[in-house]
Amino acid sequence: MKNIIFIAAPGAGKGTQSQMLQEKYGFDHVSTGDLIREEIANETEIGLKVKDLIRQGLLVNDDIIFDMLKNKLVQFKESKGIIIDGFPRTKEQALRFDELFGQSDNKIDYVIYIDIDQVEAMKRVLGRMTCSACGSIYNEYYDSIHEMGKCNACGGELKRRSDDNEESFNKRFHVYLDETYPLIDYYKKQNKLYTIQATNDKEEVFHAIEGIINGE
Ligand code: ADP
Repeated sequence: MKNIIFIAAPGAGKGTQSQMLQEKYGFDHVSTGDLIREEIANETEIGLKVKDLIRQGLLVNDDIIFDMLKNKLVQFKESKGIIIDGFPRTKEQALRFDELFGQSDNKIDYVIYIDIDQVEAMKRVLGRMTCSACGSIYNEYYDSIHEMGKCNACGGELKRRSDDNEESFNKRFHVYLDETYPLIDYYKKQNKLYTIQATNDKEEVFHAIEGIINGE
């Protein structure tokens, strides 16, 4: 099993790299952010409860996150590897996950810290667009989009996230620095931490991740 998590600021590219890993290695993927956005889109009880919080860039309650995550993990059978994207975001979440899954097939094997500076991260977040049909992620500053507002891969409509604005980004970045960044130390002590630079070449970043999980 090659289970992977990322420590990465918003915009560092964990969603993009997760998609690439899924495609090439057939790994299973769960994104806590996507699970929450699904709840919001479906206007479920949870969705309605967390909608404003997400827009403001604040974190969702741990019990909600763990319920959603556990429901998803049990669906993965005979996995080659699981990418958990957007989680853990705090020391409490990391500890609780290790308590629950530290001895199981879901335990974390690789922690990939994607290093990016705040200015670059903000540019990426403000330029981000996601296909509402197939989930492909684009950036209007870096990717050539063949037809305005349409996905290159499937023609679906490209949409921006409600929290991809400057104010929410700044909040999320600070929550990241305060709550998530300290996890580097936690995983360093477990000998699971690998650091890569978030260059603007997503193939290059992918190559670095492949090197890590293939032990090169
Ligand atoms: P990004 O990394 O670009 O901020 P995500 O899609 O990972 O985006 O998350 C979007 C939002 O969902 C976060 O700002 C937060 O409100 C919520 N969220 C996602 N994962 C978690 C988590 N593990 N714990 C608490 N809140 C979360």
